Amino acid sequence: MVTKTFTVGLTGGIGSGKTTVANMFAELGAYLVDTDLIAHQLTGANGTAMETIQREFGADFILATGAMDRAKMREHIFSRPEEKKRLENILHPLIRTETELAAKRMQGDYTIFVVPLLVESTSWKQRVNRVLVIDCSEATQVQRVMNRNGMTLEQVMSIMKAQASREQRLQVADDIILNEGDLNEIRAQVALLHEKYLKLSETTETNSTQCL
Ligand code: ATP
Repeated sequence: MVTKTFTVGLTGGIGSGKTTVANMFAELGAYLVDTDLIAHQLTGANGTAMETIQREFGADFILATGAMDRAKMREHIFSRPEEKKRLENILHPLIRTETELAAKRMQGDYTIFVVPLLVESTSWKQRVNRVLVIDCSEATQVQRVMNRNGMTLEQVMSIMKAQASREQRLQVADDIILNEGDLNEIRAQVALLHEKYLKLSETTETNSTQCL
């Protein structure tokens, strides 16, 4: 089936401003599918992944609320690649299914998928029409995350080291928003790109079976 579903994959490093910028696009009429939010819901209280996570990892990783103990799990998988893989094998197919369902409910001019690890993923780049990278200096990333989460410099740096580098992200970018400084200036960059995406959404025909 051929439809006109234009899709953008929005990505960026931790603290780059993905959520801030994605919300600006949504205010203008883009339809957002946030894969991070979907992952949080799956591992929240009553989340679809919780039964399997409890069976595979044990009750130690479940909080009293029924949600996954994210801090404990993060620490557990950090230096254990095989455990990280085990968690991903549970979560990734579920995230994919939920993402597809959310995309089908699309209302808006075009769809923006917010995918923190798009560059690190083997499949996302092929699943969207354009890749939009939210870029800022590493110093800005560190400052923002330390301010927001009360993390130490070392904690933020270790997360950043596990992610793609700024250069790797910029290499796969079709579009870039430099998110440094004043939010009004960022809003102006968003408005320009939104116009471009509206035009592209009118001319891009996507085979919907290949879309996701
Ligand atoms: P994460 O990867 O951790 O989910 P993110 O990439 O979604 O983060 P945001 O949550 O949008 O980033 O932004 C990180 C922090 O930086 C937030 O506290 C946000 O308010 C702030 N921030 C983002 N952009 C700017 C900006 N241009 N000026 C000032 N503060 C900003």
